[in-house]
Formats: sequence, C-alpha cells, structure tokens
Amino acid sequence: MTFFENPEYRGHESVHQFCDAKTGLKAIIAIHSTALGPAAGGCRMWHYDNEANALRDALRLSRGMTYKNAMAGLPLGGGKAVILADPEVPPTDELFRAFGRCVDSLDGRYITAEDVGVSVDNMRLIKQVTDFVAGLPPAEGSAGGDPSPWTADGVFLGLCAAVKHRLGRDSLANLRIAVQGVGKVGYDLCRQLHAAGASLIISDVNEKKLERARADFGAQVVAPGQILFLDVDVLAPCAMGAILDVRSIPDIKASVIGGAANNQLATEEDGKHLFDRNILYAPDYVINGGGITSVSLEYMGNKTEADVHAQIALIPGRLSEIFVTADRLNKPTNVIADAMAEAIVAAAA
Ligand code: NAD
Repeated sequence: MTFFENPEYRGHESVHQFCDAKTGLKAIIAIHSTALGPAAGGCRMWHYDNEANALRDALRLSRGMTYKNAMAGLPLGGGKAVILADPEVPPTDELFRAFGRCVDSLDGRYITAEDVGVSVDNMRLIKQVTDFVAGLPPAEGSAGGDPSPWTADGVFLGLCAAVKHRLGRDSLANLRIAVQGVGKVGYDLCRQLHAAGASLIISDVNEKKLERARADFGAQVVAPGQILFLDVDVLAPCAMGAILDVRSIPDIKASVIGGAANNQLATEEDGKHLFDRNILYAPDYVINGGGITSVSLEYMGNKTEADVHAQIALIPGRLSEIFVTADRLNKPTNVIADAMAEAIVAAAA
C-alpha cells in the first residue's frame, strides 16, 4: 500500500516524519486540518508493534482532533504527534527537547500538549526549545496544566447527560459503571463517579493503578478481557482506542457508552452496530474535549480556571443535541456528530 492509499489518510494536509540519531527520537506529526486555526493535539508516546501502526494511530488521532476542536468551539485545527517509544531505552530529557525542535520546525502549524505516556514535566522540556506547546504548569487560578482532570470533568458531565437521555435518570447514584483504564483520566473519573454514588467496576493492565483505584473507591476489579462485557448500565472506555468493533459489540450489555479514550470505534460502521443494538454511544471527541479546552485556553493566554469550567459545562448540552438529533433522524450518534463537525470545518474553510 502506498502512503496516499492508506485508508486513514483522508484529507490530511501534511504528515511529517522525524528522526534524531543522537537521541533515538522517532516521531510522526500528522496535521489533518488548519481550517479553523493552527492544528492542536497531544503527543502520544507509545510502543507500537510496527511503524505502520504508529502512522495509522497518528492519522486517526489527528483527524479526531479536527472534529474535537471544531465541536469544542475552539479556533484550532486538528493535529497529533506520536513518538515511537523504544521499550529497551527509557526516554531522556534530550529526546523531548529534540521532539520540541521538530514541533518548532513546523512554525506554529502544530501545537503540542500531553497525551498517553507524556507528562507535564515532558512539556516543560519541550517548552525550552519551542513556544508551540501547552499543558505547562499554570499560575495559580489560570487555565492550563495537566489536561487530564479537565477531561475527566467533561466525561463526567457528558455521562450525566447520556444517562439522563437514555435511562431518564437525573443522578448516577446506584448505577453500575464499568471503567476500562484507571490512568490519569480514568482515575479522576472514578473519583467523581464514586462521589456521585455509582457502583464501580474497573480494569487496568497496570496492577499499581488498579489497586489504587480499588482501594480509594471500593471498586470491584475484573480482568481486562471482561470489562467490556459486564452487566452494567454504563461503560466508560478510558484506555486505548478501537475497542468497539464487530467482535466486542455483540456482547456489550451496557445501555450507555461514554469515556475518555480517543477513537473508541474501530470503524465508522461500528457506530451503526451500536445503534442497531440500541446502545447510546457518546461520541468520544465530544465527551472528551475538556482537556484540549484547558490547554487551548492556556495557549491563548489570560484565561482562568473559571473560563475552562464555563467551556466544559457546554459539553453535556452538545451531547444532548447530538442524541436528540440522532433520535429524530434515526441515525447513529457518531454519524450526527461527524456531520456537525464537518459542517463547522467546511464553513471555516
Ligand atoms: P493513561 O496512560 O494515564 O491511562 C491509560 C490507562 O489505561 C493506563 O493506566 C493503562 O495501564 C490502561 N490500559 C492500557 N491498556 C489497557 C487495557 N487493555 N485494559 C485496561 N486498561 C488498559 O492515559 P490518559 O491520559 O488517562 O488517557 C486515557 C485515554 O483518554 C487515552 O485514549 C487518551 O488518548 C484519551 N484522552 C486523554 C486525555 C487527557 O487529558 N489525558 C484527553 C482526551 C483523550
């Protein structure tokens, strides 16, 4: 398959590959769209089985960022970076600076921030060599910093809207909620769900993180292979993408799915498979837009935590509009959300 025949290469403006022999950095930055503004999206560091999978991830994630930023009402396009982690060699400070120079070479067409495997400390290193970075430690009361708690806030509010729409309930109390992945976002989401009175069932491949969430929230622990298929009201995917596919969907028992993970649907058709099974799917790039909202307001400057809260408070309303439209048109929620996002981008272009 040639590069342009890659099915994920749909409408991308540019894709950049970077190598730095000195630090061992191998990275891809995919810019899907700058129609609404500079392409913004996090940097993921992950051990990919092969380079084709890394490219595929970068392309899927960057397109998702275009839709996410459009639906969050941000003046930003969509882009994403992936660093191909070497499991044998821990990343050095110099590797992140080398990555920062790659970002800088794009002259502001791409703005980076945290994603899976990358921390606020890493952003500090990147900031030493480029200004096109957000997710840095904020001043007291200012917008910014680690986006994860903001993402969790948006997911929590979005789940409340989804539960209201599908189950007709104003509260999450006593609902059974399965959370896949209790990392940065998943843990914080569990905290809020627990405080709201939900009964939690969790899984993670990392024993330490699992134990922390189990102890803190009295959560029931199940094996990673079981979490998608439990008899629960809500499933919240907060680990990696492409978990909703032709193999998993027939056995899912939850009535509502909504979580932080990007690209939860393996293919667009999987949204139809969920719809056919009467499972309400909260489109990932709408419900998980809290983090990019925070880092974007930080990047724009002079914004406070209150501004971020105000923006994130709009997420449930956006989702409700998608749910109502999907019901009215008898179409899957992902199809409705894609059409809304594409209309926003097309109007700007
Ligand atoms: P994280 O790395 O802190 O957490 C992910 C967790 O999932 C880890 O604890 C990991 O061990 C676990 N995990 C991995 N594979 C698993 C599996 N098969 N089963 C169960 N657990 C598994 O990452 P995060 O920042 O919390 O992000 C979680 C997801 O949300 C990612 O898909 C990310 O792209 C997405 N997201 C994150 C943010 C953010 O602000 N951090 C924003 C938007 C979207």
